[in-house]
Amino acid sequence: MKNIRNIPEKLLKCLLVALVLCIWFSAMIDASVVIDVLKEVGDRVGITDIAQGPEEKVREPRIVMAVNKRFQQKLNVEIRQTGNLNAMRRKVPDRMMLHHTAGDLKSSQKWLTESKISCNYLIDKDGTIYVIVPPWYKANHAGDVSNSRFNNTSTIGVEFVNLGNGYDPYTDEQIKSAAWIAQKYDVPRGNVISHRRAARPKGRKVDPARNFPWYRLWAYAYDIDTYLLELKTKTDNEYYSEIVNRKAVRYGVSPALLEQLVSKESSWNYKARSRSGALGLGQVMPSTLANMKDANGNKYDLSAYKDSPDIQLDAAANYLSEQVETFGYSSLALAAYNAGPGAVVKYGKVPPYKETLQYVHKIKIALQESAEEMSNKD
Ligand SMILES: [Zn+2]
Repeated sequence: MKNIRNIPEKLLKCLLVALVLCIWFSAMIDASVVIDVLKEVGDRVGITDIAQGPEEKVREPRIVMAVNKRFQQKLNVEIRQTGNLNAMRRKVPDRMMLHHTAGDLKSSQKWLTESKISCNYLIDKDGTIYVIVPPWYKANHAGDVSNSRFNNTSTIGVEFVNLGNGYDPYTDEQIKSAAWIAQKYDVPRGNVISHRRAARPKGRKVDPARNFPWYRLWAYAYDIDTYLLELKTKTDNEYYSEIVNRKAVRYGVSPALLEQLVSKESSWNYKARSRSGALGLGQVMPSTLANMKDANGNKYDLSAYKDSPDIQLDAAANYLSEQVETFGYSSLALAAYNAGPGAVVKYGKVPPYKETLQYVHKIKIALQESAEEMSNKD
């Protein structure tokens, strides 16, 4: 009886050894086999297959393995030498750091698979997710961070294919795929961080770019109504940057310029009211507003304007575009926005008002700084 019971156990052991040898051998022949091993290991430790995810809110994206070569080599050596995978995380973290690649898919993929910089997921414009380093391993994407809760070990690194110039759109498909990742690993909203915010020292990184639609990410990954409610109680640039981009496109002005202008006019307080009576985010005077028409030729409703960041930014972009049409993309257009076109015409230059001179100067400096930040590689 004893012997009979032992047979299956022995057989099992033999099979296991054979399996390990197989894995080891195949890993020796071809590094790409590592990927299959990874999938197997993922199953073994209870991490569901990378091609499965939540289906309630966002559809499953296309997933392609495009593993970073250095990671693959390291793993290969590890499997060969120790037969196990030491570098594995105990669990996939429920924190995500977002980046953009400042390039197209081809260059992004080359960079992320062939250099020592990596990430866990690369998301293409069509929503396809490229697995650069499987999420149960740490990737090299964060660099120095001010809070260790958001270092390489503790975050899933997600790169978006995006030029990072503040104009190149993050597509809906990309955002849906990011939401899919967030749902798959139960990442709470507060655990999604931008590289910009996490990087140390402050200003070292600017990705993802200012036109990143946080608002849509929250919509797909979480409950949007809750998010909007939270935003209404505080001033949040991330919420406004979405509207700023739409309005800038609507009136053909630079989103970066509009953003800086609003920042100087009202510090993003939609309840702002100046001594002279200028109102809202863009500090447009009610008398000016009364003479303006929006892109559809409709008059603005002053009472609606007072409580609507959307209408306020529409009017600001609209009024700025008027000044740009008259004075070109110049200090004069900014001065006209701030002091009125009449004053600019009267002086034939930026009017010598202290407030206006400072205003023009500060916006120009801010734009230069952000342009320099933009050229950093992410
Ligand atoms: Zn980055």
